[in-house]
Amino acid sequence: MAALFKARKALRLCIGGCRSLTQLAELPDTHQLLRQTCRDYADRELTPIAGKLDKDHVFPAKQIQELGQMGVMAMEVPEELGGAGMDYLAYSLAMEEISRGCASTGVVVSVNNSLYIGPILKFGSEQQKKDWITPFTTGEKVGCFALSEPGNGSDAGAASTTARQDGDEWVLNGTKAWITNSWDAAATVVFATTDKKLKHKGISAFLIPMPHPGLSLGKREDKLGIRASSTANIILEDCRVPLDNMLGPRGAGFKIAMQTLDSGRIGIAAQALGIAQASLDCAADYAQKRNAFGAPIGKLQAVQFKLADMALAVESARLLTWKAAILRDSHKPFIKVRSLPRAASSRSALSPQAIQILGGMGYVTDMPAERHYRDARITEIYEGTSEIQRLVIAGQVLKEYQL
Ligand SMILES: Cc1cc2nc3c(=O)[nH]c(=O)nc-3n(C[C@H](O)[C@H](O)[C@H](O)COP(=O)(O)OP(=O)(O)OC[C@H]3O[C@@H](n4cnc5c(N)ncnc54)[C@H](O)[C@@H]3O)c2cc1C
Repeated sequence: MAALFKARKALRLCIGGCRSLTQLAELPDTHQLLRQTCRDYADRELTPIAGKLDKDHVFPAKQIQELGQMGVMAMEVPEELGGAGMDYLAYSLAMEEISRGCASTGVVVSVNNSLYIGPILKFGSEQQKKDWITPFTTGEKVGCFALSEPGNGSDAGAASTTARQDGDEWVLNGTKAWITNSWDAAATVVFATTDKKLKHKGISAFLIPMPHPGLSLGKREDKLGIRASSTANIILEDCRVPLDNMLGPRGAGFKIAMQTLDSGRIGIAAQALGIAQASLDCAADYAQKRNAFGAPIGKLQAVQFKLADMALAVESARLLTWKAAILRDSHKPFIKVRSLPRAASSRSALSPQAIQILGGMGYVTDMPAERHYRDARITEIYEGTSEIQRLVIAGQVLKEYQL
């Protein structure tokens, strides 16, 4: 009897597992609809202008507002706060499709959703959620996330920006580096140390509106890729905010930052995936239209192998990304899995094969292949470099095989 009970329990668990696997192979209707809607939007509104936005370094304000109306700027935010009330799998699908059309727009969407709104949704008070999330759901306003500093990026626990209490205010001083959206943002989450002796346990998180007295911006960085998104230093000089602007408990800042980045990495994996898919689309299309030696180059096995390698990398990265998102949605551990798709997607996006298939046309701005290649490069750097992703993966592998 006991054995039968155990077997039935095991079978039920197995059925639960199969449901997740089915989700990997075939998306639920809601998610398919969302994916198609984002794909249609990207084809119509982003792909045709992505090259010009990149060339002119123009923030896609109109497109961000339209995406806000579609719910894409606040995917996980409950409807009562103005968001779409969807899950992380939905967010990953939207990120892939938007980034397929325009990687710069993708990063603006990603920073607003996961780096700015994400920590407030998880750690904010009810009042903070109303004040700092709802106005950022429509695409009228975007937020940013200020963790890195000129002296420390990967080693985020070494933050030197300070916050000291003065009466009923916090006074912040320091410089935050490389902050995406900074020139276009209406608020930022800033990490600063309230007690240097405690090292990373002395870091706290703060909410600062932008513009704000004591907060200024450095020059817009002139970047290799994602050039339609703004990146700059945020400089804090006796920048005062009310005590209520602390996000989460005092000293919880490092934990807030790390948990935010854990989820954020899935979004960046989806961004890389979108760029990789766009490269494959471009290369496969060109291979059928370009003739050499009297036939389309797609008939040449050398070209076919490149297309096959690209498709293999894209599909593998997509399954890993969906798996990480599904695990997060079902509150299951995804520590190793969060870094695997990042590593796989970045690698697939960085493939030089598309440029090679296009030959000379791959090297000039008339075709999007060179932009995809430039845009892809950042996915190996921000929200944890590829080396840091591999450290996380290796750490988990060694833990699994611990004697
Ligand atoms: C375009 C852009 C946008 C960005 N947006 C934001 C943002 O919105 N908010 C924000 O806070 N930050 C942002 N960043 C910062 C980004 O997260 C950091 O650049 C990144 O974390 C790397 O930090 P670093 O540049 O200081 O490099 P470093 O940490 O100095 O690393 C330099 C090299 O050393 C390697 N390295 C470092 N430590 C280790 C280690 N332990 N093991 C192995 N290798 C190691 C790195 O992998 C890298 O190759 C952005 C950066 C860029 C370029």
